[in-house]
Amino acid sequence: MSNWEAVIGLEVHVQLATKSKIFSGASTLFGSPPNTQACNIDLGMPGVLPVLNKEVLKMAIKFGLAINASINSPTQFARKNYFYPDLPKGYQISQLDSPIVEGGFLQIEIGGEKPKKIGITRAHLEEDAGKSLHEEFENHSGIDLNRAGTPLLEIVSEPELNTSEEAVSYLKKIHSIIRHLEISDGNMAEGSMRCDANVSVRKKGSDELGTRTETKNVNSFRFVEKAINHEIKRQIKILESGEKITQETRLYDSQLDETRSMRSKEFANDYRYFPEPDLLPVVLDKKFIESVKSEMPELSEEKKNRLITEYKLSDYDADVLSVDPNLSKYFEEVVTNSSNPKLAANWVMGDLSAFLNKDNLSILDTRVDATNLGTLLARIEDSTISGKIAKEVFEEMWLSEKGPDQIIEEKGLKQVTDSTEIEKVIDQVFEENPTQLQQYKSGKEKLFGFFVGQVMKVSRGKANPEQVNKLLKKRLEE
Ligand code: ADP
Ligand code: MG
Repeated sequence: MSNWEAVIGLEVHVQLATKSKIFSGASTLFGSPPNTQACNIDLGMPGVLPVLNKEVLKMAIKFGLAINASINSPTQFARKNYFYPDLPKGYQISQLDSPIVEGGFLQIEIGGEKPKKIGITRAHLEEDAGKSLHEEFENHSGIDLNRAGTPLLEIVSEPELNTSEEAVSYLKKIHSIIRHLEISDGNMAEGSMRCDANVSVRKKGSDELGTRTETKNVNSFRFVEKAINHEIKRQIKILESGEKITQETRLYDSQLDETRSMRSKEFANDYRYFPEPDLLPVVLDKKFIESVKSEMPELSEEKKNRLITEYKLSDYDADVLSVDPNLSKYFEEVVTNSSNPKLAANWVMGDLSAFLNKDNLSILDTRVDATNLGTLLARIEDSTISGKIAKEVFEEMWLSEKGPDQIIEEKGLKQVTDSTEIEKVIDQVFEENPTQLQQYKSGKEKLFGFFVGQVMKVSRGKANPEQVNKLLKKRLEE
C-alpha cells in the first residue's frame, strides 16, 4: 500500500432545521405517518409555484461565514432533471451556477500534527426527495413523500483529504459547525447529515488525480471510515493487477463491510440543468448578510481559544470541550459553581463522560447536573472530602440523583481533619505493624508510603491526606 496515496473529496448533505419546507409551508417534522406532510408544492402539481423560505438563506449564510467563504449575490436556483419514483415532479430544485456559498475552508487536526486546511468548493441549497419503502409491503414498494421539499445544504469539499481518518475528522468539524450554528441537529441516524465519499488512488508523488468512485449515503462516522478504507484497498488491488478503475456510483453495505456497484457515474449534462423559471435570482445585500452575522453564536474554534485564555485550559482539554456546544456549556456551568477550571475539565472529560458513555446518554440527559457537579468539586477544594471519596460520592449522585452534600452527610464521608482523631489511627497502625515500624526506624524510609496507605485504609479514605503526611512524618521522626 505504501506506493499509493488516496485522494478523497466529500459531499455532505445537511438537513437544515427549519420548521417548514424550503419552498412550501408543509411541516418538516421527523417521524410522522407517511404522506401526511407533503403538500401540492412538494409534489410539484401543475400550476403551483414554489416560495423560498427565508430561513434557509440565513442558515446557509451562517455556514458560509463560518467557513470563511464568499456569499454569492445574486444566487440562483436551477432545475436538475431526473426520473425516480420518490421524485414525482421529475426534477429537483437545486443550484448549479452561483451557489449561495463558494470557496471556503476549514482546518482539521489529527493527533499532534499541525492543522491541515481543507478547501470547501461550494455549498448549495436544494430540496430533498421522498423515500421509497421496501420493507413494509410484500412485492411492492411504498413511497413516502414527507421528506420531499425538506431543505438541504450540500457541502462539497475539494479533493484534499488523503486518509479515512482525515475524512472523519473533516466530517466531525462540519458536524460541530452546523450544531454550533444551530442550523441542523446533525443527527446521522435520522439522516439529517449524510455523506457521499469520492475516492481515488494515485502513485505517491503524482499530482494527477486518479479515476474516482462515489460511495453514496454513508450514515455514520464509523461507516465513512470503513467504506473509504474498503474502497482504497479495492482500488489499489485493481490497479496493481494492471486493470482500470471504472468511474461509478457505489453503495456501502455495512453488514458485509464492502462497497458494491450501483450505477455508472452520471454527469452534470445528464441532468439537463437549467435556471429555475419559477424562482427569481436572489439578491443578498450587505445589510442582510450583516444582520445574519450579528445573530451568529460563538463557533468551536473561537470557543476553544476563549477556553484557553479564560480558564487557562490546555490545548487538548479546550479542544475536547469545545467540539460539542452542550458539553462546553455544561463545563462552564460547573466552573461557576466550583472555582477550579482544570479540576472541572478533568471531571467533565473523565468521570462524567465515562458514566455518560456507560449508560449511552448524551450530555443533555446527564443524571448529574452541572450545579451538583460544581458543588461536589467545591467540596474537594474546601477539603470536606478527598478526590478519591469524591468519586464514590459521584457514583452515588449518578445512581440516586441526590445532591453531593446530602450524600456526604448521610454516608458520613466528611474528611477527618481533626488531628487527634488522625493520631489515634496512626497509633493503631503502628500497633498493628510493629515489624515495619522497626524496619523504618532502622533506616528503611521507603516504608513511609506504606504507613500513609495503612492510615488511609483504616480511616476508610476519610483522613485528610496532607495532614496524614504531616503527622506521620512527625511521629516517625520521634
Ligand atoms: P460531481 O458533481 O460529478 O459529483 P464534482 O466534480 O462536483 O463531481 O466533485 C464531487 C466531489 O468529488 C468533490 O468533493 C470533489 O472533491 C471530489 N472529487 C473529484 N474528483 C476526485 C478524484 N479524482 N478523487 C477523489 N475525489 C474527487
Ligand atoms: Mg456528486
